This record gives sequence, C-alpha cells and structure tokens, in this order.
Amino acid sequence: MSRDHLPWGPVVPAEVVWNDQGEPLSTVYNDCYFSQNDGAGESQHVFLGGNGLPQRWQTHSFANFCIAETGFGTGLNFLLTWQAWRDSPSQPDIHYIAFEKHPLSKQDLERALSLWPALRPLASELLDAYPGLLPGEHRLLFEGGRLTLDLWWTDADEALADIASHGERWVDAWYLDGFAPARNQSMWQTTLYQYAAALSRKGATLATFTVAGTVRRGLSEAGFEVAKQPGFGRKRECLRAVLGDIHSSAPDVTGPHWDLRNAQPACPESAIVLGGGLAGCAIAAALARRGVLVTLVERGKLAAGGSGIDRGVLYTRLSKEHSSLADFASQSFRFASRYYRGLFSEGLLNQRVDGELCGCFQQIDHTENTDALAAVLTGLDDFVQLLPADDASRRIGIEQDHAGYWFPESGWLNPEAVCAAVTSHRNIVVLEHCGEVVLQRDGPHWDAHAGGVSLATGQCAIVAAGYAGKTLQQLDWLPAQRIRGQITRLPASPDCAGLKAVLCHEGYMTPARDQHHIIGATYDIGDTEPACRARDHRHNLNRLAKAVPQWHNKLASVDERELDGYVGFRYASPDYLPMVGPVPDLPQFLEQFSSLRKNAKSMPLRKGPYQPGLYLTTAHGSRGLVSTPLASEMLASQICNEPLPVNRALARALSPARFIIRNLSRNRI
Ligand code: SAM
Repeated sequence: MSRDHLPWGPVVPAEVVWNDQGEPLSTVYNDCYFSQNDGAGESQHVFLGGNGLPQRWQTHSFANFCIAETGFGTGLNFLLTWQAWRDSPSQPDIHYIAFEKHPLSKQDLERALSLWPALRPLASELLDAYPGLLPGEHRLLFEGGRLTLDLWWTDADEALADIASHGERWVDAWYLDGFAPARNQSMWQTTLYQYAAALSRKGATLATFTVAGTVRRGLSEAGFEVAKQPGFGRKRECLRAVLGDIHSSAPDVTGPHWDLRNAQPACPESAIVLGGGLAGCAIAAALARRGVLVTLVERGKLAAGGSGIDRGVLYTRLSKEHSSLADFASQSFRFASRYYRGLFSEGLLNQRVDGELCGCFQQIDHTENTDALAAVLTGLDDFVQLLPADDASRRIGIEQDHAGYWFPESGWLNPEAVCAAVTSHRNIVVLEHCGEVVLQRDGPHWDAHAGGVSLATGQCAIVAAGYAGKTLQQLDWLPAQRIRGQITRLPASPDCAGLKAVLCHEGYMTPARDQHHIIGATYDIGDTEPACRARDHRHNLNRLAKAVPQWHNKLASVDERELDGYVGFRYASPDYLPMVGPVPDLPQFLEQFSSLRKNAKSMPLRKGPYQPGLYLTTAHGSRGLVSTPLASEMLASQICNEPLPVNRALARALSPARFIIRNLSRNRI
C-alpha cells in the first residue's frame, strides 16, 4: 500500500451529527456508531463476548493476544477491551489493530467518549495519544507497552491486504464493526474475509453484530465456521465465527517479495546490540520491553559519535506529496514525541535538564501562499499549525516577521540522557569501552568479541554502529555517506533570552540552558575534520543572523574564535531514509535477483535471502532523535514476528536490501 505522489494532508474525517441523547451518528453512512440502547452493553456482548473475552486470556498460549477491528470509530470497543484486560486476572500483552477510513476529529471523539463515565480514565489516555487526522499508521503504547494500539487510517480492505501480504498469522480475534452491510458495502467485501482468514492464528474467532446472509456466506467461504448467537437486548441475533482448518491463504497481492524472509524465526530470548548511540539504545529498549535479554556492546561510551551533541531537536518536515520520506518523517515524529513525553512522565528524563518539549517554530519561505498552506493543515493542530508572525512571536518569545509552522509536540533533547534513560531497563546489560567489536555467527548464536575475547552471545544481533558498521565484514557493501556537522554553543545574552521554544530556519537554535544556546548545524558531505573550526561557527552565526535580522549586529560582533562547539559525523543513506531491517545475504541476493540486471521490470516473485538473526538500524542522519524510536519499534516487531507499525511499502523503503535491488535494476552491481 503506497501513497506515493498523492497530495499530503489530513485524512477525510467522519461527518458526525448528534442525536437528542448526545450519541454520534454518521451522516455519510446514515447509521449510528453504537447501539442507541446501551451501546457499551451491546459492544461487550457482541464483540468481547462473541470472541470469548476475557475468558480466553486465561488459557492463551502466545505471549501476546492480537485483536483486529474493522472500524475504530469512537474507540468504544477498544476501551471496553482495555477495561476488561485491566480487570482480568490473566493478562497476555494485547496488540489491538484497528482500521478506520474516516477517523473522528479529536473534538468529536472527546464528545462521544464523554458518554461513558466509567471509561473516563482510559478515554483520557486514548485522547491524549490520539493522532487526530494525521494520515498513515500510528502505533500507540499504553500500560508501559503491554497494550499496543495500531491505528491504520485507511480503508480496512486495503490495510488488511497490506498486512496479509507478509504471509504471517498474527490475529486471535476479530471485531467486524463497520456499519450495517446494506449501508456500507465497501467494508463487507469478500476479500476482507479472505484476508481475515489468512491472517488468523489457529483457533481465531470473529464476532460481528450483523447476521446478513452475504456476511455469513463470505465468512464461510473464507474458512470460518459461522454460528448465530442470541443478540443483545431487543436484537434477536448476532454472529460468532471460528476459523476452521488452517489452509486459507490470502488473495494474491501484487508487488515484490524481496523484502520478506523465507522463514520467520521465533522471537529470540537474547540479543546483542552493537553500538550505543540513539539507534542502538532505542532498539535495545524496544527488545527489552518484549522480554528479550539484551547485551549492548559499545566501542566507547554511550551516546558518542553522531549522538554526542548536547541538545538535538525533534525536527520533522512537511511535504506537499506523500512519499516514503514524507510519511516516515511525519509518523516517526509523532511516535517520537510521545515516546519522549512518556520518558519525562515516568521520571526517566528531567524537564529542562535532559530536554523540553517546548515546541518548535519553523520559518517558511516568505513567498509561500500561507492561506493555501493553512487550508491543507486544517484538522492537524496537534501535529502542526500555521502561525501568523505575531502569534509566532508571542509563542516563541522573539520577534518574527513572517508566518511559519508551529510544531507543538516538538522540542529539544539531550541524546546522552535519552540513551541512559532507555537503557536503564532491567533486561539490558550495557558494556561500554569494548574497543573494536566483531560479530561472528557461531552455530545458532551470534558472538560479539573484541581482541579475541568473547563479550556476549545472542540468538540475534543488531548492528547499530553508524558508519562503523560498515567495517563489519557482513556489511562492507552498505552504501553510505558521512556528513560532518558542527554546532556552536552561543553564550546566553539578554538579547536572546526571550527564546522559549526551538527556532528552526536553515539551521536551528535552542532556548538557553546552562548559560548557552545551541545553534547549528553545518552540513558537509565528505569533510572529515574532527575539530571545531572558527569559520564553521561563523557560518552558523551568519545563518542565524539572516533568520533573526534584529540580532544581526550583535551576532556580527561575536568573535567566532572564542566559541565552543561540537563536531559529529552523521551517517546517511543515498536516499536519506535510514536502513532498518534484516541484513541481506549479498552473494545470494545477487544470484537470485540477477535477472534485474537485464530487465529492471522482471522482478522475481521470490522472498529475499537474509543472514539468519542479523539486523541493522543505521543511517539515521541528523534525525536520530526522531527516527530511532519508530524504527526500533518496527525492527523489534520484525525480530519478534509481530504486526509492523508501518505499512509494508514503508517497511520496504527502509529495508537495507533496497540498495541491492536498486543497484541490480540499474545494472551497477
Ligand atoms: N467500533 C466502533 C466503536 O467502537 O466506536 C464503531 C464503529 S462504526 C459502527 C463503523 C466505523 O467503520 C466508522 O467509524 C466508519 O467510518 C468505519 N468504516 C466504514 N467503512 C470503512 C472502510 N471501508 N474501511 C475502514 N473503516 C470504515
């Protein structure tokens, strides 16, 4: 499912009217979101009861229990499930995936959920995390990560086709809740039942409020054993189904398969993470949360190299069109800002010391048509707002001449504090100052050793060593560029003291802490100078003076030779997306996909050969603070064989093997 080249903007929201009881009705489908006669009672009866929940959790044998819902609507079913899980004596981790073509606006969601006082605490957590109308897939974590909610803002059939195309069986229970079939045929498609069957684990169940003949027939033909059940209240019947024999396979999905592995290994018990920058620490944390015992080995100390800057900015970019780069930028930004908010509220990060989610103002090109931009961003207020100059000046505390984008969830963070916070998990052992570490496959395990001494073994290994990863024999083919970046520590002064949010222009500036601002950063491909240079400080000062003309004279008078700063080397891929996923087996890839050299359009429909248990997360460029939390969530999901937090096209766009396929198609290798 790729949205490439479609105009970027909010998803089309639900059109809702409210009846005399204050309940929401859809004007598009002319139907109600839940029964007007004890909606919560009916949902509980039909969907939880119909799937044997919460009782089934007592005997569930997998580490997590996966529920998929077609039609998230007001989230009532989700909240009732969450409540039942909280009250249940036995609690497998829950993975709840919901699809929604027309999400409610946050205001409508709040109003709808206010109908259920008993659910208020959970509803307020949901509202706090709700992505509003931001397009794409959104992973929300609750209960310390034990409850995962994936919201796919897209047509259910399309989303299921995407998820089923992985060829894995992930789902234990289905809630089919997409308005009455007679009023909404788009939801009740034959293919949807086939995808559901193909995605179901053994013993999976399904429940729906409708007993329409077409639905029953469609489900039976897809392999479900369907039975009518007594309905709730005055309704006579509802439907329950159980997957019969497992032999169904998903309808064919077109597109390449090289990003899929031939055999999906079971979730490992142990892992080695090589590299203790933001990428390594975030993947260690994502695996540790899943119960994997992680040894993180680092050549020097945590958060050095590209992650060694004192304050990094949570920066995202807006695009006029969808692309993998644009989608990953917005989705990873949204995930990251919530991730850091969680670390602050758990007390793992300290406000103003380790970072601040104080918002970020991004200046825009003065020639842009701001009315047109504002129209595109309508409904995305939590993510971004277009601020006129006077509002911007008030918001950030310094005078601005022009309108720009305000990202309220952005801010700055100290990467070292982030690395320490996320690796403080009891399942992570951190080994610093290991020197040059080499990875070797030893039977079913990976072994990390340095200077002939074994440091750690693990059932899998994840390389997160930035550019240094290229020195490993398994990864010497990786395309890469090192980009030098120098930041400047500008001493705090009364002129700049008003700045209370991050300012982004061609560069950026953080509010003053510890008597200085961070301004930056230079961007020099191929420059290898490790020491700070006065002329680069001048470059940073000049760009800031251009962005804030009233500081021009003051900045011009600063002696750049007296300034202090930091040089880091970003590692970026040729397409500026990170490389995250299983590590391909290069010789086998070249052999199995060699036909691409002759004809780039003749993609062999076979899965890719990958090195067993070896993974990569690298090339996060200057965006590691933003990209590594979601990238790690995706990689941990791949390692542990769970549904991914992003669609398959996006996962494929991040896959390290993309460069082999691209180079073969261009006859370059
Ligand atoms: N389960 C919801 C709850 O707990 O509040 C109520 C769902 S409501 C009855 C049906 C939902 O299905 C609506 O929110 C509607 O926008 C959504 N929907 C309808 N057609 C859809 C489609 N083809 N794909 C995804 N969602 C769809």
